[in-house]
Amino acid sequence: MSSDLTDALLQWYRRHRRDLPWRRTRDPYRIWVSEVMLQQTRVETVIPYYLRWLERFPTVADLAAAPEEEVLKAWEGLGYYSRARNLHRAAREVVARYGGAIPDDPAAFARLPGVGGYTAGAVMSIAFGRPLPAVDGNVLRVMSRLFAVDEPITRPGTRRRVEALVAELIPADAAGDFNQALMELGALVCLPGAPDCPRCPVAAWCRARAEGRERELPRREAKAPSRPETILVGVIADGGRYLLARRPRPGLLGGLWEFPSVPFAGGARPEEALAQGLRERLGVAVEVGGLLTRVEHLFSHRRWDLLAFCCSLAPGSPRPEDREDLRWLSPRELGAVPLPAAFQKVAAALIERGAAL
Ligand code: SF4
Repeated sequence: MSSDLTDALLQWYRRHRRDLPWRRTRDPYRIWVSEVMLQQTRVETVIPYYLRWLERFPTVADLAAAPEEEVLKAWEGLGYYSRARNLHRAAREVVARYGGAIPDDPAAFARLPGVGGYTAGAVMSIAFGRPLPAVDGNVLRVMSRLFAVDEPITRPGTRRRVEALVAELIPADAAGDFNQALMELGALVCLPGAPDCPRCPVAAWCRARAEGRERELPRREAKAPSRPETILVGVIADGGRYLLARRPRPGLLGGLWEFPSVPFAGGARPEEALAQGLRERLGVAVEVGGLLTRVEHLFSHRRWDLLAFCCSLAPGSPRPEDREDLRWLSPRELGAVPLPAAFQKVAAALIERGAAL
């Protein structure tokens, strides 16, 4: 049965797969870049980033040679920046250890920074034809429906079970296509809320469908609600320029730039807490004016409530010079530094408010 299922799925995939840029290559570096970008990010969003990235860093060696800031800039807007930092570090390791050639060896590849079981399986199967499972969210959903897996897919044990099920099905001569077929089925037919079973090429083998449970599966454990955090932001103006600070590393969005911010624990007025926080963090004395904007930004496990205030340097206090972690930029120059999405929203409010370009 399983080889019939495999054949049906492969046939469907070869006829219906979307023509995506990373499907036109067997170059392991290009496939790797696409897989990293596609984690947590939608295909339509990834395509322009992927094309620009390969223009800028066409080979592993080009990526390895680039400064981190340029790499983060090219990633700007994709979020989850640790993916870019890891890819960059991994590229440097590929150059240093393997002469710039991605190793055709799952164990060696999986030791590179940021390469987890999924990425290793995807790159090794698609680029080198190795019969390894590549279980992402789509595959977890499809497989838990096909085999009526009742354990919550959020548990590591469930993922291992699904990997074992995929490993049994995966054909030695079409491993890459098979993994991609499962992902594609999850993306186009076996959708999260509403699986389109009448159009499904493997409906005849699907246990969830046979049991009328396709909408019940997969199961998830209740998610902990995301933690709200209030962040105070100082938009410090001086002569048409604004002070930008590099976020400390390691840490959330580390190495990226921001309008200087401090976490707010309550207890004082936000304006006072901001002035004190900026003095302590950057040694900058400011006067805090009115609220410029309030921005909500969601990460996977936290929620930021950003309060951005218009600020000016306190009279008589020294203007900090540009340095490694501080820069004065005009609104037009903000594009020169990698600015995370939450702070881009602040920049947009600033420009809307009529800040001179
Ligand atoms: Fe998903 Fe329905 Fe196909 Fe089963 S039959 S794999 S639930 S689309």
